[in-house]
Amino acid sequence: MKVWLTSILTLLVWMTGFLVPAQAADELVVYSARNEQLVRPLFDAYTRASGTSIRFITDKAGPLMQRLKAEGANTPADLLITVDAGNLWRAAEEGVLQPVKSAVLSKNIPAHLRDPGNQWFGLSVRARTIVYSTVRVKPSELSTYEDLASAKWKKRLCLRTSKKVYNQSLVATMIARLGEEKTDEVIRGWVANLATDVFSNDTSLMQAIEAGQCDVGIVNTYYYGRLKKKQPNLDVALFWPNQETSGVHVNVSGAGVTRYAKHRDSAVKFLEWLSTPPAQKILAESNMEYPANPQVKPDPLVASWGSFKQDTLNVSNAGKLQSSAVMLMDRTGYR
Ligand code: FE
Repeated sequence: MKVWLTSILTLLVWMTGFLVPAQAADELVVYSARNEQLVRPLFDAYTRASGTSIRFITDKAGPLMQRLKAEGANTPADLLITVDAGNLWRAAEEGVLQPVKSAVLSKNIPAHLRDPGNQWFGLSVRARTIVYSTVRVKPSELSTYEDLASAKWKKRLCLRTSKKVYNQSLVATMIARLGEEKTDEVIRGWVANLATDVFSNDTSLMQAIEAGQCDVGIVNTYYYGRLKKKQPNLDVALFWPNQETSGVHVNVSGAGVTRYAKHRDSAVKFLEWLSTPPAQKILAESNMEYPANPQVKPDPLVASWGSFKQDTLNVSNAGKLQSSAVMLMDRTGYR
């Protein structure tokens, strides 16, 4: 009887020790501001590799952040994925993330692409660079973002709206690099050079260059990649500015573990996996971005645009100086 009871107990202990915590831990909930098409292949690959199942919802960054705040300690979310350091910075600022100390993440993700307080980590890099008409502009005429304010670009510049966080981050970085006064001067110059009203997105801006409405502009390279795939004969090319100075403005898409994560250890493991080559490849290829992990090569099409020096100023500046950037763009008339 005693032996029988012991065996039952041993079996129970074994089952609870082995099965129950495994079941509870092998599940993750992700809130993603990146769309399903981009994140699903990543989640599926991780589930195949680790056995961890991932439930997720997708929405825009703003509503997801509101939701995390409203849910507080009751949130089911373990991880937040979003684009732009400005958004990641805001998430940390609003207290919905928690710091993660990880040797894997410190090794795989360069210091300028992650939060100095370890609350979020860049996972892919997007370069916001100059595009120009190959018909009307010689690359030798181009040099820096600042130079787009010079009189030679009068009525030749196209810009996307200042309401977009990408431009807020670009201007925030310029404030960090050049100071308010100089940045103010540059943005006034850009506004004075506009050929037409600001655009609602990067793609229509490039189509305006193609159509002859303007000659130069500023876009994220993956939009260029998408358009070029659709229109291989597009007479628009990329230019890498500020190569003698600060480098090309880069931003990140990234992720952080939520403050009230119920599966914290699993969330950290998943975040670490996202920084490794198999995940970095999927991430970079699915959106034609640059891998954040410098050991991983970009997609061949992306690599064909050439290599460039990127700005290594910490991307958190995009968040820290975002409100200054918004005010500056407002007062300089950049709509
Ligand atoms: Fe985008």
